[in-house]
Order: sequence, then C-alpha cells, then structure tokens
Amino acid sequence: MGGMTRREWVLSAAATAAAFGLTGRMAVSAPVQPPERRQQTPEPKPGIHRYKVGAAECIALYDGVWEKVHDPAFFQNASVEETKQALAAAGLRSDFVPIPIVALVVKINGKLVLCDAGGGGQVQAFNPNSVFVSGKLFANLRAAEIDPAKIETILISHFHPDHIFGLLGRKTNKPVFPNAEIIVPAAEYKWWTDPSLIGRLPKARQPLARRIQSVIPKWKNVLPVDGEDEVVPGIRFVKAPGHTAGHTVFHLTSGKDQLLISNDTAYVPALVAEHPGWHGAYDQDAAMAEQTRRKLLEWTVGSDMMICGTHFPWPGVGRISRDGAGYAFNL
Ligand SMILES: [Zn+2]
Repeated sequence: MGGMTRREWVLSAAATAAAFGLTGRMAVSAPVQPPERRQQTPEPKPGIHRYKVGAAECIALYDGVWEKVHDPAFFQNASVEETKQALAAAGLRSDFVPIPIVALVVKINGKLVLCDAGGGGQVQAFNPNSVFVSGKLFANLRAAEIDPAKIETILISHFHPDHIFGLLGRKTNKPVFPNAEIIVPAAEYKWWTDPSLIGRLPKARQPLARRIQSVIPKWKNVLPVDGEDEVVPGIRFVKAPGHTAGHTVFHLTSGKDQLLISNDTAYVPALVAEHPGWHGAYDQDAAMAEQTRRKLLEWTVGSDMMICGTHFPWPGVGRISRDGAGYAFNL
C-alpha cells in the first residue's frame, strides 16, 4: 500500500467494506486515515559493527531508524528545501529525514560498558506519517554474543527517549539492566528531576518528565556525576550543553588513539555538521548547542580523533574534516 494516494486508499477501503457486506455509505462516511508509511531504509544485516580504538573494542549496535517527515519547524533558520539539498549532497534519501539510532558497547580495560540505551521500542513519532522504529538493540546485543546481564556500566548522555527508554521496561518501567551502574550527567539529572519542571514544560514534553521523575530517582544504581571526570578507566565525560541542559559526550582514549562518542552534538551530520549554524527544534538551547557543536567538531579535527554519533549514518563511526564553513563526516 506504500505508493497509494489517499484517494486510492479511500476507494479501496470502500471496496473492502463492500466485500465484507458493509454498506458503501458506512465506509465512506467513517473517518478515514491514510495508512502509515512503511519503513524505507533497509535494515543493516548484521546490525553489528566491530572496530578498535587502540586496545579498546567498540561494537556499534543498530537500534532502529526514525524516518522523520519534513517539517518547516525542524530548523529555525533553514527551509525544508535546504534540508533536502543537504541530505542529497551527503548521498542520503531526501524524501524524509533519515535518523538512525545506534548504541555503542565498549570493552575497555576489562570493563563492559554500554553508551546510551536506545529507544527500547517505545519512542513515538509526533507525526503519524513518520516511521519510528527502535528496540532492536537487545536482539543485536545477543547477536554480538553480549549477555546484557554482564554489562557493568551504562553511560547516559542525556534523557531524551531515544537514549534512555531502553533502560525502562515497556509499560512496567522495570529496570532492564538492574545490575549495571548507570552513570548520568549530574546537570541532566538535576534538570529533569526538579519537581517544578513539569509546570514549566510544554504539554507534549510533560509525560517524558513525569516518567523520568517517577522512576529514575528511585533506582539505587543511578550515579549522577558532575564535572568532566573519568567515569570508567579510559572514558571521561565532557560537558556538551545545548541539545539539553546536561547533554554530555564521552571521550575515549586508548594508547594514542581517541574516539569522541559525540551522542547528539551533531545529530544528523549531513545537516548540522555541514551547517553548524542551523538551529534545530530538538536543541533545547539552539545557540548554546551551536557553540558546543563548533567547539567539539573543531577539537575532533584538530586532534585527529575518530568520532561516532547516535544518529550518524550506519555504522555511525568515521572522521570529521573541515568543509567550507562547516564540517564533513566521512565513514
Ligand atoms: Zn537522540
């Protein structure tokens, strides 16, 4: 039904109704919604990609994709046409915004660490025509022969659904990783767990804050960390505010090799690495997000680090180089 127009679908619904003995009048007068669009992006098989950074073993794990319908409000200062052009220039599909979700497991200095937890199959798209698939992380963990119960440490960059819902049981809110220590940025924890927050948030964001406040502070295995400490031997937190109040990136060092686990700093690099000045609707403080993005991308280029990002094109790891007034990401 993918290529059907709305009118064709209404007609075929009427025909189906007739076949089941319903009257045409009933079928046509009922409110008719166009069918949800099917996923267009082929799923990577396998959804696992292994690479080394010095002695550290990194395993990128595919969690799903959000095929976001174009929306003039996505960027304050870039049009849908400019967005499409930037996607096409990077060789990506431009009939929607492809936003993959990729989590990362790191084996470093004898520790097994998960960086962000994906959407847990619980992330809803705001527009019914968007396709939003997540929740493939667990199957890919198993396919990579990683026992989720053996994950000792989980690092969380920020509290958006596509990064933390994988921690929470669907409908039950039960901890999915009860044995792991979950290290979160203190600024992010403080912002989301402030009881006065809910009244200050737009209605659409309130359920997320309620869910966080009713669950996360009760877990004994959540450790908020302030500053830029080494949270696991070989990985330190680096503050990267703007996308959210406490958004944080993870800087991995092994020998002379480095990886910047950049999370949502340059979420879709074809858009906001190439155009660091584009101010996105999902950045809580867009001006601060731009400042952070420029600083971290410049640091990545200057120190010849590898970089990965949650929403980078699969398998989500490569290098950044300067490109005109912006930065290019190359797999
Ligand atoms: Zn994200």
